[in-house]
Amino acid sequence: MKEELQDLYRIARERMVENQIKARGITDERVLQAMRKIPRHLFVDSALRDQAYGDYPLPIGEGQTISQPYIVALMTEALELNGHERVLEIGTGSGYQTAILAELALWVYTIERYAFLQERAKKILFELGYRNISFKIGDGTLGWQEASPFDAIIVTAGAPQIPPPLIEQLAEGGRIVIPVGDEFSQILVKGVKRGGVLHTKNLEPVRFVKLIGMYGFKE
Ligand code: SAM
Repeated sequence: MKEELQDLYRIARERMVENQIKARGITDERVLQAMRKIPRHLFVDSALRDQAYGDYPLPIGEGQTISQPYIVALMTEALELNGHERVLEIGTGSGYQTAILAELALWVYTIERYAFLQERAKKILFELGYRNISFKIGDGTLGWQEASPFDAIIVTAGAPQIPPPLIEQLAEGGRIVIPVGDEFSQILVKGVKRGGVLHTKNLEPVRFVKLIGMYGFKE
């Protein structure tokens, strides 16, 4: 029975990758493979498990969400990870995106405002065997100075601007992906730091919960 259930989840993941992610143009094979592998259903409440592979975000508590699978894939692909990077993630949330990053990079530094969410994510990630993640509770708009510079930075909440400390803590040649806009809608922005300057381009319109902090929205 348990094995049958695991098979069903595996099939659901395969369909998710084909119909939601590859079909919308994601081609990075490492990203696709990580999304086929990671058991997304473990990162949502047991009452929502049958919806874990649906084409939408889901609530995770504290008014927060686990992002839609396609958006996770899009943001991850934009980071251009090859396995050697030190990555900063702002907004641990459920820990699902953290797991994808831990599969694809050397080390992940993840910051979350809510201790409860991060504790839960930490437990799941540990049980899944990830040992290349450092956790911090606090205001991610300030970055993680002691661990910088980062080869890649991902912000999984909508920001009014790109927080200056994050630009500062990005390595030369590093990539940042962040939703920028107002509290109702944002544009996913990708920035690459060259010659100490961030060069940005817009990817897609998105809708994220608010990034709250010194360089984010007020509570
Ligand atoms: N990546 C997450 C996942 O896969 O479940 C989704 C994250 S959810 C859309 C956004 C998260 O950002 C929330 O958990 C929220 O508490 C967190 N957040 C908002 N502002 C923050 C800040 N200044 N520092 C750290 N985390 C923040």
